[in-house]
Amino acid sequence: MVVNSEDGRELRSFKFKDEDQTQEVRAVERRILLETLADELPPETVRFSSKLAKIQSSENGETLLQLTDGTTLLAKIVIGCDGIRSPIAKWMGFSEPRYVGYSAFRGLGVYPEGQPFAANVNYIYGRGLRAGYVPVSPTKVYWFICYNSPSSPGPKITDPALLRKQAKELVNNWPEELIRLIDLSPDETISKTPLVDRWLWPGLSPPASTGKVVLVGDAWHPMTPNLGQGACCALEDSVILTRKLADAIKSGPTAVEGALREYGEERWPRVFPLTVRANLVGSLLQWDNQLVCSIRNNVVIPKLVRLGPVLEHTNFECEPLKA
Ligand SMILES: Cc1cc2nc3c(=O)[nH]c(=O)nc-3n(C[C@H](O)[C@H](O)[C@H](O)COP(=O)(O)OP(=O)(O)OC[C@H]3O[C@@H](n4cnc5c(N)ncnc54)[C@H](O)[C@@H]3O)c2cc1C
Repeated sequence: MVVNSEDGRELRSFKFKDEDQTQEVRAVERRILLETLADELPPETVRFSSKLAKIQSSENGETLLQLTDGTTLLAKIVIGCDGIRSPIAKWMGFSEPRYVGYSAFRGLGVYPEGQPFAANVNYIYGRGLRAGYVPVSPTKVYWFICYNSPSSPGPKITDPALLRKQAKELVNNWPEELIRLIDLSPDETISKTPLVDRWLWPGLSPPASTGKVVLVGDAWHPMTPNLGQGACCALEDSVILTRKLADAIKSGPTAVEGALREYGEERWPRVFPLTVRANLVGSLLQWDNQLVCSIRNNVVIPKLVRLGPVLEHTNFECEPLKA
């Protein structure tokens, strides 16, 4: 990992294995991850473009799902993994995720002849502004820019030319390779996302399941990306839930409801502290005060930060699933 200041000065570089033998970074392109998971399923298992419009309980204990194309489905079990704006979470009584005061641009730079970077995670810290990039394949490099916009995230923008222009304006005088990465990102890879989270306060937040409807991933615990754990936690959720459901399904509906409850109880102590910690880390990283940023760049990052304890939360063992 290499950490630079906005003027290109190297503040610190770490080797993960030198700091902590258990650590490594694996950057994976979302498309590859989704295709890999989907390929494990029998053909036709996934029905794409099935947007949920409405969910309601039916009298026999099943759940009625109405899709935007008019299709209705009667489901014995519903696993809501429909992201931060989950209509299923809303139906279960969860509050809207809360905007945390900064947003992110993201993209994927494409180098058809091969990308030029070493296998490093690169961070660049400015004032109320930070960026990063990491190779995800021999030809692709993921990048992001997080910037403060405290009062509101501004209007939703879908025009790729405008997104690209705004992203470049933010890092105008920053290291040249970042600007080049933005230029080399195809339109469809560039996006802007207001960053949000939801703190699952015990006693105040609904449980992860209601009857035989359960939430997984961002739908349940949207967290800011400052620890790089949102998708990792969604995968962990899935493994734990699968294990609990595999046994319960054979025993009938009451066992299923119990298994979903147990899943929520087991996962909450993992996801709630991570959501809070990610939020606090984000507040520190988005500082814009000149003096504070100078102390961060000249003292905290070069001399004080130890990578092992900072990344200790990534050491989660969920054991492989049985075939
Ligand atoms: C800037 C940024 C950087 C990040 N970096 C990292 C990182 O380094 N590491 C990490 O682990 N995580 C990271 N994350 C978090 C990660 O992207 C999410 O936690 C992860 O995508 C959550 O997966 P999910 O399946 O729960 O939700 P999503 O990936 O949001 O998937 C939800 C799915 O539900 C579908 N859907 C939505 N509404 C409906 C509906 N009404 N009906 C049917 N389907 C619907 C969507 O189309 C989508 O396919 C980052 C996030 C951001 C914003």
